[in-house]
Amino acid sequence: MSFSPVKPLFQPEQVLVEQDAFLYSYTNEILKRLPGIPVITIERPNQSTFLQLHYNPAKTLLLMVHRGKFFKPCPGTAESYRCCLYKILHLALGCSIGCRYCVLQGYLNNPFITQFVNLEDAFQELDEVIDGAPEDFFRIGTGEFTDSLFMDGLTGLSPKLVAYFAGKKNAVLELKTKSIAIDNLLQYDGPIGETIVSWSLNARTVVDREEGRAPSLEERLKAAARCRARGYRIGLHFDPLIFFPGWEDEYAATVRMIFDFLKPDDIIWISIGAFRFMPPMKEMIKESHPGSRIIYQEFIRGLDGKMRYFSAIRQKMYQHLLAEIRRYAPELFVYFCMEHDSMWDDVFGYAPKDNQQLSHWLDQCCYRYLELTADSIR
Ligand code: SF4
Repeated sequence: MSFSPVKPLFQPEQVLVEQDAFLYSYTNEILKRLPGIPVITIERPNQSTFLQLHYNPAKTLLLMVHRGKFFKPCPGTAESYRCCLYKILHLALGCSIGCRYCVLQGYLNNPFITQFVNLEDAFQELDEVIDGAPEDFFRIGTGEFTDSLFMDGLTGLSPKLVAYFAGKKNAVLELKTKSIAIDNLLQYDGPIGETIVSWSLNARTVVDREEGRAPSLEERLKAAARCRARGYRIGLHFDPLIFFPGWEDEYAATVRMIFDFLKPDDIIWISIGAFRFMPPMKEMIKESHPGSRIIYQEFIRGLDGKMRYFSAIRQKMYQHLLAEIRRYAPELFVYFCMEHDSMWDDVFGYAPKDNQQLSHWLDQCCYRYLELTADSIR
């Protein structure tokens, strides 16, 4: 395999730094990686002052102190659909990859790509939660309001997180990404412990048309293979599945490609979720991405208020993808992100009896993974 130099997905032309952020050493660490880039000190920013900061959000990095909770439940906890009870470590906001379907378009009221710098506070809060419940098991991700790795070259965040989680016996970290910014993960020479690096995959047409500056499928899977060779377990996420002419062959091709780069046992889990969006997103996508066709389908409003494909379409897509995965990896754990019990039954032939059971199934994957890891602390 040959590797070309990774082009950064985010290259700021200026950095806004909240005054208090200079109290944290991480701020200077990041600024040192941006020599020659103007640094503008600002007062404590908030929703109304963001509007007064006339900098191009696509070219501006904001370093600030986070004063709320870092640790949160995943927002996908609607009663009607099964949720895996994932937890979020909220360390950054925004992403420069620019997927046309990205939910962050309608979600964030801070326009700037933002890195929170008070990591000490985040780790202290995590210690309290994780160490305070030694009987519980935590699956924690950083990629809910951002992509976990797209600016890792600037932030150097991933090795700090891997080192932190390597010391925890009842928690795993999942870094979800579409990027290939894995240099820090590969160069990190401490114990890996329980870190999973996960890639979001899709059909080639969706990657080409809808996923902005995201690297190609081949590049993502090459990066996954390199992370696996370094010892990280790999997760994969087909979310959102998009319905378009030719989807059957293209999703089958993506599944085939996975196993050109990875062995079934390299992969801890694959999740699947069909395209869904809150109704106001339709206008946003129309306005910001007039070339996108993804919103011109028939949708129904789901029990969580989101627009979804009809269940017959979702079922057909899920069954097809699952059958393709099973051809190569009959034992691999595949699960739905936010689907109804009846869909589980129709596609898998069984359903978790509640969110706790689904969560438990994913925890079991982690235990199995820990057993397979030579330097496991378990
Ligand atoms: S990579 Fe994820 S966070 Fe970034 S634009 Fe795409 S969907 Fe949004």
